[in-house]
Amino acid sequence: MDQKAWLDYVNQQQEMVLQAEREIWAHPETGFREWNTAAYLRTKLEAMGYQVRTGGDIPALSAQWDSGRPGPCVCILGEMDALTVPGHPEADPATGAAHACGHNAQSAALLGTAAVFAQIGQKTDLRGSIRFIAVPAEEMIEVAYRHSLKKSGTIGFWTGKPELMRRGFFDGVDAAVLCHASSKPQKQSIAVYPGNNGCLMKTARFLGRSAHAGGAPHLGINALNAALLALNGIQALRETFREQDYVRVNAILKEGGQAAGVIPGQAEMEIMLRASSLEVLTQINQKVTRALGAGAACVGAELTVEDIFAYPPFENNPVLNDLVLACAKEIPQVKDIIDSSAWDTGSTDLGSLAACMPVCHIYVGGASGSSHGESYCITHPRDLCMNAVALYTLLAVRLLAQDSQLVWQEMKSGHQFHSISQQIANLSSFDRCFSVVHYGETGSVTIKG
Ligand SMILES: [Zn+2]
Ligand SMILES: [Zn+2]
Repeated sequence: MDQKAWLDYVNQQQEMVLQAEREIWAHPETGFREWNTAAYLRTKLEAMGYQVRTGGDIPALSAQWDSGRPGPCVCILGEMDALTVPGHPEADPATGAAHACGHNAQSAALLGTAAVFAQIGQKTDLRGSIRFIAVPAEEMIEVAYRHSLKKSGTIGFWTGKPELMRRGFFDGVDAAVLCHASSKPQKQSIAVYPGNNGCLMKTARFLGRSAHAGGAPHLGINALNAALLALNGIQALRETFREQDYVRVNAILKEGGQAAGVIPGQAEMEIMLRASSLEVLTQINQKVTRALGAGAACVGAELTVEDIFAYPPFENNPVLNDLVLACAKEIPQVKDIIDSSAWDTGSTDLGSLAACMPVCHIYVGGASGSSHGESYCITHPRDLCMNAVALYTLLAVRLLAQDSQLVWQEMKSGHQFHSISQQIANLSSFDRCFSVVHYGETGSVTIKG
């Protein structure tokens, strides 16, 4: 079957795909709460004839197309989660959730590709299989909710992909691809790029002592002042960050007192650290912890820090990137093919998976506005979703061709891939909660990083 015949199958799915894009857009759900989205996808996949594996106590799905011949397994991913953007004009009025990162289009494209291969059945000369996985919780938000899921043992990891790795959804997968909506440039584009920053989330809890702000401030230990000094310490460190490491440090104050008449006894900060390598992320983490400790030590407050390794740094597989560019050239509707050298300073949880297999995160145009913001919307759903379905289909056809051994060899050469179980152990070793400042009896102060 030639390229054109495959693209004819792709075009036949347009109505169903565009309907799915609108349906999921209209019912946004945040991470690990995508129950309606998962149910919708399940119904559609089962109607196509797939046997669907579900996540049980978390929303997740996988379905597999099999060529009937032995060969590699390619995974096509679709993220399901929305963000909390209450100011978004189309946010869910009850939850404030909105699809401000365009993941609704990913789920629709996953359905479209599954429909193409369901329709083809075993009437191909391809080998191997395709696993379609609908993934929850890519965005690292609602930390308190994730904590509660972790505490109850429901999840072992903070985001969807490592959690599904832990649950065996990726066992037997040899490579994975994911098309993400892009608003730059707007439409008819397919872009590849080198990779994304890793991300560590820190929660800093300063514990001081409340006192009457007018009558006896000398009896208080001002936790808000500790947090503000820490924030200034972090600002002072920015000149030590190198451009080539793409460091980002963003902090918010979650708690800083309840009444101006009371010296705040507690303050809490949430900080996101990002950098392009694990090595730099570790160094920045030590510096930021020191700044937090210095703020606490100045006023004599206690400080507990909790580190969550949200996203490892992610590198796109360069051979897969080249294959994407080659396939994009075969899609008549794609007008702009971009081989970008720009490092993405945001983060994705694909880094967990990329440590175990070749992975490619692809940007497909069709959205506009500010990603994660109130202005975000899908302006060209046909370009976005159908170009993604076409790309997934052509990629799968290339990777499962009878003569695809060489490209698989190239994708894996020069990389040291971990096994999934090894990577899960690696990820688990990062999270920690510890006391930072220790006061000695003689007035000495120790800050532990
Ligand atoms: Zn996002
Ligand atoms: Zn996203």
